Amino acid sequence: MIEKRDFYINGQWVAPAEPNDYAVIDPSSEEPCAVISLGGQADTDAAVAAAKAALPGWMATPVAERIALVEKLMDIYQSHAEDLAEAMSSEMGAPIDMARSQQVGAGSYHLANFVKAAKAFDFERPLRADTPNDRIIYEAVGVAALITPWNWPMNQITLKVGAAAIAGCTMVLKPSEQSPLDAMIFAQMMHDAGFPPGVFNLVNGDGAGVGSQLSGHPDVDMVSFTGSTRAGTAISRNAADTLKKVHLELGGKGANVIFADADDKAVKRGVLHMMNNTGQSCNAPSRMLVQRDIYDQAVDTAAEVARAVTVGNAHDEGRHIGPVVNETQWNKIQDLIQKGIDEGARLVAGGTGRPEGFNKGYYVKPTVFADVNNQMTIAREEIFGPVLSMIPFDTEEEAIEIANDTPYGLTNYVQTQDGARANRMARALRSGMVEMNGKPRSAGAPFGGMKQSGNGREGGIFGIEDFLEIKAVGGWAAE
Ligand code: NAD
Repeated sequence: MIEKRDFYINGQWVAPAEPNDYAVIDPSSEEPCAVISLGGQADTDAAVAAAKAALPGWMATPVAERIALVEKLMDIYQSHAEDLAEAMSSEMGAPIDMARSQQVGAGSYHLANFVKAAKAFDFERPLRADTPNDRIIYEAVGVAALITPWNWPMNQITLKVGAAAIAGCTMVLKPSEQSPLDAMIFAQMMHDAGFPPGVFNLVNGDGAGVGSQLSGHPDVDMVSFTGSTRAGTAISRNAADTLKKVHLELGGKGANVIFADADDKAVKRGVLHMMNNTGQSCNAPSRMLVQRDIYDQAVDTAAEVARAVTVGNAHDEGRHIGPVVNETQWNKIQDLIQKGIDEGARLVAGGTGRPEGFNKGYYVKPTVFADVNNQMTIAREEIFGPVLSMIPFDTEEEAIEIANDTPYGLTNYVQTQDGARANRMARALRSGMVEMNGKPRSAGAPFGGMKQSGNGREGGIFGIEDFLEIKAVGGWAAE
């Protein structure tokens, strides 16, 4: 059993002020795989005080030096890739091969993109060519609290820590209590890279404890949060008294609009995308909207693809999907699948209960519902499991209406070979991101949402800018 009770505060690992053990459960076996501590107010205060004390020095450190430390971190990250993959596989159930490639790979990708973007960014520049005495200075927001979820843990941590560090913010990371192990490996990497004491701190804890203490702390200038809309609302409320900057990356209920002229891999691609990470992605294409002419065929294909998705232990190598993260999520997904059946959607693959061959572990059957109406619960709520809802449509206007009829606005997807229509759709869809025909957004593109999916942008220069204040100076002297 791994025992990792300490927190990383002011450049060293320290014991919690008061013991408060918490078992980390391996969702593949339902057995504890580690014990950590949940912090309390004294731990939060110590970490915030360290970050506050380190802020002036870190802000005054030339940006080139801050970038160089992130580059050092990138090298160390590579050398511990296997440790990170194994940690994520144990704590949140990512199948080991997927953890190695996608979960760990996302972290190195984001750090590299930040370094590239920062090198090309003018942190100080004239307002315009005709205003030489007006200076625009981008400087750190200050002490940042970083609160991260368990579904893409290293992805989220690097998106926040990499950007904050380059911007000159000092920080306190509170990773999800469901997935603290990869975060603690990462904290040691920050130490080994040589970030000065206090620049980066880590305190484990839950939302009601350390999470709320951070979002309400008078010495925290900004909260950057990724997770549920419920927690995003609570954090915004709690941060309001001290008027913190609040950056939110929340849930989604993405539409994947498949027109009759889509390429013949579109349905299969959409189903596999939905099932990736066992459906636990905020940008999952969870509502597949299919034009009526190809709808019946698409339902058959989707069911066939979902039935061929294998489910397995996260520690086994291979291309299967793993369990979902915990019992609460498993129960929530079961309830939503049952609601889909009760509200009259047509179950064409999967369903309630564990997949055949499993009597333990938080495994869910890859599930597809056809004939879903956009007002049904499964079309409105973020399920966060391997469950796809298929909705037929007739016209482009109707597809836009259904796609936009959701409180969320994170990512939508469009499949058509008509370029003009694809572009029209991209303009009409109310979401922070639109991806067409299976083409990913390029490195450095901003990730983030509209409406109840949040308000910030992560990745590349956009992610760094979210940790920066803009200072306008008049009367700047020639240097
Ligand atoms: P959550 O939002 O409760 O937890 C995410 C992080 O926020 C964790 O670090 C948690 O400790 C912290 N947190 C929770 N409540 C908080 C509060 N009041 N103040 C400060 N911090 C708080 O997510 P969850 O309960 O683990 O998952 C539940 C649902 O959230 C999922 O079903 C899914 O819909 C959604 N979710 C979305 C994302 C995403 O990337 N958009 C990620 C994780 C979970």
